[in-house]
Amino acid sequence: MQDFNGSIISKLPGVGTSIFTVMSKMATEHNAINLSQGFPDFPVSTELIDLISNYLKKGFNQYAPMQGLPLLRERIAEKIQNTYGVSYNPETEITVTAGGTQALFTAISAFVKDEDEVIIFEPAYDSYSPAIKLNRGIVKYAQLKLPYYHIDWTEVSRMISHRTRMIILNSPHNPTGTMLKKKDLDELHKLTKNTDIVILSDEVYEHLIFDKVRHFSMSAYPGLAERSIVVASFGKTFHATGWKIGYAVAPANLMKEFRKSHQFIVFTVNTPIQHALADYLKDEQHYQGLGKFYQQKRDFFLKAIKDSKFKPITATGTYFQVLDYSQISDKPEMEFAEWLIKEKGIASVPVSAFYHKNDDNKMLRFCFAKTEETLEKAADILCKI
Ligand code: PMP
Ligand code: GLN
Repeated sequence: MQDFNGSIISKLPGVGTSIFTVMSKMATEHNAINLSQGFPDFPVSTELIDLISNYLKKGFNQYAPMQGLPLLRERIAEKIQNTYGVSYNPETEITVTAGGTQALFTAISAFVKDEDEVIIFEPAYDSYSPAIKLNRGIVKYAQLKLPYYHIDWTEVSRMISHRTRMIILNSPHNPTGTMLKKKDLDELHKLTKNTDIVILSDEVYEHLIFDKVRHFSMSAYPGLAERSIVVASFGKTFHATGWKIGYAVAPANLMKEFRKSHQFIVFTVNTPIQHALADYLKDEQHYQGLGKFYQQKRDFFLKAIKDSKFKPITATGTYFQVLDYSQISDKPEMEFAEWLIKEKGIASVPVSAFYHKNDDNKMLRFCFAKTEETLEKAADILCKI
C-alpha cells in the first residue's frame, strides 16, 4: 500500500507503542518468562466458560441494551452492596463497559473539554494522559512520593485551580501495588468539597487486596461518592483480561452524561458474556476469595526472591510487585529491563514508563499473576543476578 500523501497532524505527538506491547513482544522474541504485561497465565474458571458457551449456543448473540443487561446491572449493584454496603440504582447509575479502559476513556470524554485541567498521579497507568489529550484537556502531573509512593496533598492543593475539572485516582495502584488510606480520602474530600471537580476512580484491582488492608472505594465515602465515577474490570476479577468487559458506576446525573458518550464510543458490549457474568456473580465467593488467592502468589514470589539483591516495596494490592535493583546496577530502567530479557530471560516493565518524563528510580514492575511454576523459574533467575 502506498502511504497517504496528505499532511498528518498527530493528535498524540510523542506517543509511541504502549510499553506493555513493547515488553511482551520482546519477551516472545527472546523466549523470556513474561512477567511484564499484567495478565494471568492460568485458566479462567470452567464454570464461567461453560456458562458463556451455553449462552452462545442458545442464541444470545445480538445487541444487549446500551446500558448493559438489566440482570447483570442488578448483580453488580448487589456486589457493590455486599462489598461496600452502598446502593447504586442499576437502572440509572450502573453501565456495563468494554473493560476498564473504555470506561475511563468514556468518563474523560464525557467531562473533559477544551483546556480543562485533569490531575493525575505519577507513576500513572498509561491510558489516562492520552485520553485527556484526545479530549483537549490539559494533564497536570502530581508525583507519588518514594519510598512508599504516597500522595503529597499539599502539592495537590497547590495544583487545583478554577480550571481543574477532574482528578483521577487509582487504588489499588498500578504499577506500585500501593493503596489509598482513609486519610487520603479525607484530604481529597477537604480539597474537593464545594468545587465542580469530578473524581474518576480507577478501582479495577478492588478485589486483589492483601494483608487484611482495607480498600477504600470512592463509592463508600459520603461526600466523595456523589462526585465520583468508579471504574471496575471483570478482566481482573475473573482472570480474563482478553474479554474486555467491566463497568462504571456513578450518581445518576453523572451517569447520564457518561452514557451519552458511551453509546457512541461502543454502544453496548458482548451479550453472551454479560449473561454468563450475571449468573456467575450470584456466588459472592467468586470475587471475595480473590485477595487470599493472590496474596498466596505474592507471598510465594517474595519468599522465593528474598535472598536476591532485588529489594521489594511490598505490594498490598494488584498483581504487581515493584522491585528496586539499585544494589545490582546503575543502568537506566529501560536498559536494565532489556538486559534482563535478552541476557537473563525474564521480562518486567520499567516503572519509568509510567512517568511522562521517564523518571528513573531503578525500579521494575513484575506481574505475579502466574502459576507457582512460572514464579519459581522467574525467582531462580532473579536470585542468581
Ligand atoms: N486501569 C488500570 C490501572 C489497569 O491496570 C488496567 C489493566 N490494564 C485497566 C485500567 C484496564 O482494564 P481493562 O483491561 O478492563 O480495560
Ligand atoms: N493492565 C495491564 C498492565 O498494566 C496491561 C494493559 C495493556 O496491555 N494495555 O500490564
